[in-house]
Amino acid sequence: MMQAHCLVLLSLSYGALAMPRFQNKAGISSSDQNLAEEYLNKFYTANAKEKSSFTERLEAMQKFFRMKVTGKLDTDTMNMMKAPRCGMPDVAEFSTFNGRPRWQRNSITYRIVNYTPDLPRNVIEDSIQRAFGVWSQVTPLRFTKVNNGDADILIQFSARSHGDQSPFDGSNGVLAHAYAPGARIGGDAHFDEDERWTNNQAGFNLFLVAAHEFGHSLGLNHSDDPQALMFPTYRYVNTANYRLSRDDVNGIQSLYGRRRK
Ligand SMILES: [Zn+2]
Ligand SMILES: [Zn+2]
Repeated sequence: MMQAHCLVLLSLSYGALAMPRFQNKAGISSSDQNLAEEYLNKFYTANAKEKSSFTERLEAMQKFFRMKVTGKLDTDTMNMMKAPRCGMPDVAEFSTFNGRPRWQRNSITYRIVNYTPDLPRNVIEDSIQRAFGVWSQVTPLRFTKVNNGDADILIQFSARSHGDQSPFDGSNGVLAHAYAPGARIGGDAHFDEDERWTNNQAGFNLFLVAAHEFGHSLGLNHSDDPQALMFPTYRYVNTANYRLSRDDVNGIQSLYGRRRK
């Protein structure tokens, strides 16, 4: 049941290695063809009860990203497949997980289990607190940091295998993942220690990735609204006075209601 939701950067790792040695008649290299199959297997099968064809899934992907639906691996489609993104399947508009898991109370605890050496401790704590803040601003949810023992949302930085079924893959691959609300690992957010975490536009901005992952921790799935924080691809935006998109607000309020005045 528990599914890890990952931020994935496909472009840099594949791009450097994928020299197009063989091309099919449509001008698609064998490495791009493989990448596309891997991409569709990963992001466009989870909700399908029946197995659908490569072309059908490709069309679903093009539709999701509001591209021209051609069923062909054109340049725009390949570029989108190589863009930094989250590793869970794509769905339409804001969405929740199957069964709509949510926390049954508004007071939620979190604990930072360990700290990345990439940033000073106080900057990590501030980034995490602000990332929860974007969600508490628009809901009745309140987040409290605890320093030891159990907490609803455990936050950790780990490389490679780290005790769940979703090992990280070194730099520039999967960036992070989080679990939908629930007991034990439910709600937990894991960040790939092999990434370079920052509080600016370099590397990966911890606040932005954490805010996206915490959306999953609270019960939100991906959105196809390009302006949404819950859109699958990583995009740096100015984080000063950051505000959720209307779509994110609609999504989280569908689970928890509005903030009480
Ligand atoms: Zn995600
Ligand atoms: Zn994990």
